[in-house]
Amino acid sequence: MARLIFLGPPGAGKGTQAAELAAASAIPHVSTGDILRAAVAGGTELGQKAQSYMDRGELVPDALILDLVRDRLSQSDAQAGWILDGFPRNVEQAKFLDALLAEIGQSCDCVVNLEVPDEVLVTRLLGRGRADDNEEVIRTRLAVYRSQTAPLIDFYRDRQQLVSIDGNQSIEHVGMALRQLISS
Ligand code: AMP
Repeated sequence: MARLIFLGPPGAGKGTQAAELAAASAIPHVSTGDILRAAVAGGTELGQKAQSYMDRGELVPDALILDLVRDRLSQSDAQAGWILDGFPRNVEQAKFLDALLAEIGQSCDCVVNLEVPDEVLVTRLLGRGRADDNEEVIRTRLAVYRSQTAPLIDFYRDRQQLVSIDGNQSIEHVGMALRQLISS
């Protein structure tokens, strides 16, 4: 399996696990959050438009995200596979991804849902120290996750693409579960 979507709330460990698995599988780790943070740091037009949403913990408008994903998945290094981390983030984005994959003749092998209890997420996020990791913004990000992103769990479960993994274990154990999954 070489085309995976990582789903899960902020702080579930998606970024850490996606980076490790992508490196081990020699496929790109496509994190829309990383791409946006780089755009903010670089002061690009995208970064300037995205920053205030990110600072508040809200989703950046789809109009800023969709072309970016299309461009990234069209690059040559993404033809053999990819791990999407932080995208799709709502049902509209998931439908866009479906259409995009059909258009470029690819399909997603599996959607990994990393499950972690809320109280563990807050503790992890507070310890991370990222600019958007203060308590008020964390609350907004969890609320946005619940209302906009969590519906994707049923969206992908209905298509038998969802695999849930207990993310409330050590990084090593979650990594082992993921490697087992993709080798199965
Ligand atoms: P992340 O690193 O995935 O937690 O993303 C950090 C922030 O970037 C989020 O709180 C959003 O403001 C923005 N972001 C990342 N990915 C997306 C996306 N697919 N759609 C909308 N906003 C996003």
